[in-house]
Amino acid sequence: MSASNRIMKHTVLSSGLHDADIRPPALMSELMRLSLRDAARFFGEPDALESVACPACGQDEARPAFEKGGFTFAQCGACQSLYVNPRANAALLDRYYSESEASRFRAAQFAEGAASQRRYHQLRSNASWMGQVAGEMDSETSPTYADVQTYSPAIFDEVAELGLFGALYSIDPQVPMVDSEKAHVTSLRLEESPPLDVVSAFEKLEHQYAPQGFLEQLHQRMAPDGLLFLTTRTCSGFDLQVLWDKAPYIYVPEHLNLMSIDGLEQLVQRSGFELVELSTPGQLDVELVLQVCAANPSLVLPPFVHTLLADRDPLAHRDFQDFLQKHRLSSHVRIAVRKQGE
Ligand SMILES: [Zn+2]
Repeated sequence: MSASNRIMKHTVLSSGLHDADIRPPALMSELMRLSLRDAARFFGEPDALESVACPACGQDEARPAFEKGGFTFAQCGACQSLYVNPRANAALLDRYYSESEASRFRAAQFAEGAASQRRYHQLRSNASWMGQVAGEMDSETSPTYADVQTYSPAIFDEVAELGLFGALYSIDPQVPMVDSEKAHVTSLRLEESPPLDVVSAFEKLEHQYAPQGFLEQLHQRMAPDGLLFLTTRTCSGFDLQVLWDKAPYIYVPEHLNLMSIDGLEQLVQRSGFELVELSTPGQLDVELVLQVCAANPSLVLPPFVHTLLADRDPLAHRDFQDFLQKHRLSSHVRIAVRKQGE
């Protein structure tokens, strides 16, 4: 049986989550403004950009999809993933992340702690998801847990409450890590880490220069049968499919890769992992499209989408969002994979 037939967990979540809870408009607008300005500054020279094959499936069959913020998004002819091509090389991206004002702004916002309150829904939901899947692990000792490039240290408090894990590690944290009452966390560089049993990398795939290389590096540091948990945005989801280049909060270099469901399946398998779950529990697609329409009354939607949004009530919108979750058609995707035993 193929992986795509085997896994389908039809996750449907409802917690009254609203877009503004996760992405406060003023903060997001400022982060996006700084990012676009810094991207032009760091990546503005055509020589700084290089052409790449599809980051998801590896095929080189891209065609231009749209321009945004001065960058070209291409669409893979094989797996339909969207990706920025040409893109800044890995060294330039590293420099951007260590030196740009946008990076400093983002780290400061997260470090202030207010961000963890806003991200409470996401963190708790991610922790309980990992607890459910990792709770089925066959392990004689408490498994180790590591979060990669941590932006929200509060994830460790949520994870500690599960009572499931032994040592907790933050790999290459992006904000200062301070022990809380609930969790003692050791900060490490990836190359120093012991074999890791359970690893999370939330919202990282979309801005990797080379997602396969990123996953392969994690794979190397993981114990046999270790679990890796990923979240990202997918171009297969409703809001991106409908809004395409008009989608808000899609910008370089935060979103270099908006991979399709098909592409994501191929990516994790090409990186040596076995798929455990791939679902789209997003709650915000319909709300996002409604918001964009309210802000841009001249936007022309496909007739069916217009009818659904303009002529149907909130109950229909909620039912439709449930449908998107159930059938892997929301743009927020979460993936659990296992390192195949050796
Ligand atoms: Zn592809």
